[in-house]
Amino acid sequence: MTEQNERVVVVTGGSRGIGRAICLSFARPGTSIYFNYFSPSDPDAEAVAAAETEKRVADKQGFAASKSVNIVNEDEVSNFFNGIIDKTGRIDVLVNNAGITKDGLLVRMKEQDWDAVLNVNLKGVFTCTKIVAKLMMQQRSGCIINISSVVGVTGNVGQANYSASKAGVIGLTKTAAKELASRGITVNAIAPGFIETDMTAAMSDKARNAMLDQIPLKRAGYPEDVASVAAFLASEGASYITGQVVHVSGGMYI
Ligand code: NAP
Repeated sequence: MTEQNERVVVVTGGSRGIGRAICLSFARPGTSIYFNYFSPSDPDAEAVAAAETEKRVADKQGFAASKSVNIVNEDEVSNFFNGIIDKTGRIDVLVNNAGITKDGLLVRMKEQDWDAVLNVNLKGVFTCTKIVAKLMMQQRSGCIINISSVVGVTGNVGQANYSASKAGVIGLTKTAAKELASRGITVNAIAPGFIETDMTAAMSDKARNAMLDQIPLKRAGYPEDVASVAAFLASEGASYITGQVVHVSGGMYI
């Protein structure tokens, strides 16, 4: 069992980008951070990225441990959480961050690209939330934060699958907030806009400039802009906030 004052945080997709910044925003003595990552194409590179997150958390005197877990695979997810619960006995914060894109115009979109994005971005959130919500209900406390996207609210050309998945995350967030509130659990979503990560680095210059043109604050966001909001939503100061979508987009959606 964990020490009574230990705070246990789980972040999906914590090896890089926004997930890594979220891990770092929680890193401090007395907090244990467990995160997963998944990359079938380059497992070695991803293990190195995950180790880097662990090291940076340790630099801040926190504890972090990672595992390669595909959030689409229910058995792997279940083993991941059971391992954490066996060790710590509790989970205080779950951040559903892992996500992918497979862009293309709707009329050309392959069914497999639709399924892949919906499976990771929406079903993955459902699978992780369901497992953790049961534990948090017993604890009668907890905080769940889902990373959606501004395009889940606005839609975006070439992202029918992605925007549908992120809109679904908002619906799931609001429903979970209503179902879990009586057990002292808050559930909120963050809707980032254009954030500098590997995901957006893959965009063409044209798409990138078009995106930047839509930002009233006239700059791309950084992973830390999102991470600081996640840390706030998991803090005592946010204990009366649930079922909300916080936009972190430089005003892309007003
Ligand atoms: P990223 O740099 O591509 O990192 C994605 C993370 O998710 C990685 O750790 C990745 O693991 C993990 N992941 C992907 N598929 C997974 C799977 N099947 N199982 C487990 N983990 C998986 O992405 P990001 O830009 O930081 O985005 C993080 C979240 O923010 C996503 O939900 C994204 O949709 C959302 N978001 C991003 C932006 C943006 O502008 N960047 C804007 C709005 C919303 P590997 O490293 O092993 O692949």
